[in-house]
Amino acid sequence: MSPMFVPGPVDVAPEVLSAQTHPMIPHRSKDFEDLYRRSDEKARRLFYTQSRVFILTASGTGSQEAAIRNLVNERVLSCVNGAFSKRWYEVATTNGKAADKLEVPPGGAILPDMVAEALKKQKYEAVTLVHNETSTGVQNPVREICQVVKEISPDTLVCVDAVSSLGGAKIEMDAWGIDLLLTSSQKCLALPPGLSLCGVNERAMARANQVENRGWYFDFVRLEKHRQKDSTPATPAMSLIYALDHQLDRIFAEGLEQRFARHTAMAWRTWEWSEKKGWPLFAPSGYRSQTVTTVVNPPEFDCSAFNKFAAGRDLRLANGYGDLKGKMVRVAHMGEIQMQDLENLLAALDDYTAG
Ligand code: PLP
Repeated sequence: MSPMFVPGPVDVAPEVLSAQTHPMIPHRSKDFEDLYRRSDEKARRLFYTQSRVFILTASGTGSQEAAIRNLVNERVLSCVNGAFSKRWYEVATTNGKAADKLEVPPGGAILPDMVAEALKKQKYEAVTLVHNETSTGVQNPVREICQVVKEISPDTLVCVDAVSSLGGAKIEMDAWGIDLLLTSSQKCLALPPGLSLCGVNERAMARANQVENRGWYFDFVRLEKHRQKDSTPATPAMSLIYALDHQLDRIFAEGLEQRFARHTAMAWRTWEWSEKKGWPLFAPSGYRSQTVTTVVNPPEFDCSAFNKFAAGRDLRLANGYGDLKGKMVRVAHMGEIQMQDLENLLAALDDYTAG
């Protein structure tokens, strides 16, 4: 496997790719129901929730849309500190909701006090927040934000996008008080793209029951009716669910705590390297991602040229996102990436820049 340090789609283990080749079975069958039940149980363990995790045939953006359609009648507070949190704001406005932006410039974190202030001024049905802003490498203090929402506006639902962190960083849905938690298959879970997992608690289900025009495909009430029978309303991405079932076994075999520790150790190693190298970290101390480290490169460094060089060593690095392209690199140390892979990448960067 050639390690790709890009924040998704990431490398997938050959045996997980193989799991997708399982012959198709009717989705209205006992065998599929068994597969779905197993995957749902394992997904709940991964999300640290007793509630439910919908396994959706969509990428993560589908769950962003599902959150808005199911949980917001009128008004949502959209916390924006980068490209993907901005997308969730746009998902809200394009669905006709009144969305107020709580925005900080890219590289900044959303702080609990900012959320508290916004909630004191206006009542919101939900707050949307990205745990790990993949475009900037900033990790927002979700747990503390959940706490202030509970204190100031207990009826407001907290919706969290953990697309690039769930499975690589510990996020305890129930203990932290997250009402909706979503992720994509192609990042820390190290699966092919095409599935989104969306944890939804009882409070959020109660809200969905009262919200009009939820649509059909992502309607939580409809999805739950089918989930109760270990099934889905429409034809599921069966091959991907076979892969999910297998990959979750691999993840638990590694051990969740061990997996999180592996990701954190790789983040620390990258921070240490950046300090030695004199390439500053982009994300501020205390708010740095455990799964994607953003490092400001000197202006003469060309990420595409480096990738041509690194291809000879079977490595690939991610450029900065959007306006940050050329200004920084993103080292995505997630999924199947091991410390030795990271050492190889850092050595390649050192060799390349040594000329
Ligand atoms: N949210 C975050 C934090 C992301 O990093 C991404 C994609 O990179 C998305 C949402 C969108 O996810 P998807 O491409 O699976 O729709």
